[in-house]
Amino acid sequence: MVEPSRFSVGDSVLDLHAKDQSHHLPQRPEVVIWPLDPSEVVAIVTYANKHLIPITGWGSGSSLEGNPIPVHKGIVLDFSRMNRILSIREEDFQADVEPGVIYQDLNTQLRHTGLFFPPDPGARATIGGMIANNAGGTRTVHYGSTKDYVLRLSTVLANGEIMDMGSRVKKTSSAYDLIRLFVGSEGTLGIVVKATIRLVGLPSEFSAAISNFSSVEAASRAVFEIIRAGLDPAALELLDSECIKLINQEKNIGLNASPTLFMEFSGPTLNQLSETMVLAQEICEDIGCDAFRAGLGREDRNRIFEARHELGEMVVRNHPGGRIRVMDMAVPIAAYPEMIAESRQALTASGLSGYIFSHAGDGNIHINVVGQKDDSKQWAQVDTLTDHLVLKALELEGTATGEHGVGIGKRPFMKTEHGKSLEWMKRIKALFDPNGILNPGKIFPSS
Ligand SMILES: Cc1cc2nc3c(=O)[nH]c(=O)nc-3n(C[C@H](O)[C@H](O)[C@H](O)COP(=O)(O)OP(=O)(O)OC[C@H]3O[C@@H](n4cnc5c(N)ncnc54)[C@H](O)[C@@H]3O)c2cc1C
Repeated sequence: MVEPSRFSVGDSVLDLHAKDQSHHLPQRPEVVIWPLDPSEVVAIVTYANKHLIPITGWGSGSSLEGNPIPVHKGIVLDFSRMNRILSIREEDFQADVEPGVIYQDLNTQLRHTGLFFPPDPGARATIGGMIANNAGGTRTVHYGSTKDYVLRLSTVLANGEIMDMGSRVKKTSSAYDLIRLFVGSEGTLGIVVKATIRLVGLPSEFSAAISNFSSVEAASRAVFEIIRAGLDPAALELLDSECIKLINQEKNIGLNASPTLFMEFSGPTLNQLSETMVLAQEICEDIGCDAFRAGLGREDRNRIFEARHELGEMVVRNHPGGRIRVMDMAVPIAAYPEMIAESRQALTASGLSGYIFSHAGDGNIHINVVGQKDDSKQWAQVDTLTDHLVLKALELEGTATGEHGVGIGKRPFMKTEHGKSLEWMKRIKALFDPNGILNPGKIFPSS
């Protein structure tokens, strides 16, 4: 079906496709194939369905919840060679892309147009992987996540049929919204072979600020007040003092080592932004912030956000021999201060080493907790802490995963989060993939 050079059973290739960036245990596939076009994907999926061979899509493998790990072995379809930007329709604010396009590369190509694709998971993720996980990032608070940018999808279903869905229009009330069903389905319903994504204009002006607080609880109250005041930040990130210490150590930026909010506002004029910034400062000072530094230039802003994006890797680098579990709960914004307070308390009580950093503006909270690789007792403590905090988020009417997806790790919480609708999800899965060949072992609890 494909040239031999695009098919591998070599040990190193299988190892490279056995694990993502999460703590989950690796599992090798039996073969890795690099398709070049939809017709090859059709041929491979048709064959796999006939012979009941599991088939898992692979973008960059940057997932944080085991999403692309081929837990039932079989075929991994690596989309890194299907990475063409097929067309950029500037006037319609759209681009047609293959799934293997890296989103940063797309934004580089778009630079001269004044347009960009906002979801920014930070890692060098592919558009296919972002669609499958419904990825978000620092800009989600203002721009929304990947689901808000997918207009059309072309997918290969488990029976080998190509299904096209959606349209080029920004709004439609036409029948069932299959795109929303497929975005976030982690490759369990079909394989994405082409997408039309929406683009937006780059803002003309932006303004960034840093504010320091005596506790993460105080910082989280400021987050709530900034959102409640309708200031509409383009990014609003909360980092605890442990994160700031790491950033200072690795980047030599000299930030105050206390719980910190990074915020950014964007808009058409600097006047409008300076008014917004004054209001943000008033809010932070009313809460009792220790410092508020506004007017960061482009260079400072870029250095800080770059460091923010690299935090996950910094944690790994600073804990050799450690295994890191990344939490990803999200709660309604009014519950955010309570969720942060509970997280801080539970983390301290556990005695484990952990880093709280979160896309605070949209109620998303990440905690990277460190356990030693071979210490099963400590790892059990990590699991207890995670379970406790995910259940707390659900109690606050939140979700087990704001942006990383269910993958392997969040499966045990799906019944609690979705109740009876989980049964309907299983029926949908069975309808699209009756033989269960597409990325098996994900999303649904094992029993
Ligand atoms: C340092 C770091 C920071 C991160 N920050 C964020 C963040 O801020 N926000 C966020 O949302 N995520 C973040 N992530 C997680 C990750 O980058 C995202 O989940 C991203 O969407 C994964 O894309 P990928 O191309 O690596 O996909 P992969 O990890 O390769 O795959 C993801 C899922 O997509 C499926 N898949 C891949 N291609 C296809 C296809 N063509 N058709 C169907 N299914 C397919 C896979 O089977 C898998 O289920 C971060 C990761 C790292 C390492």
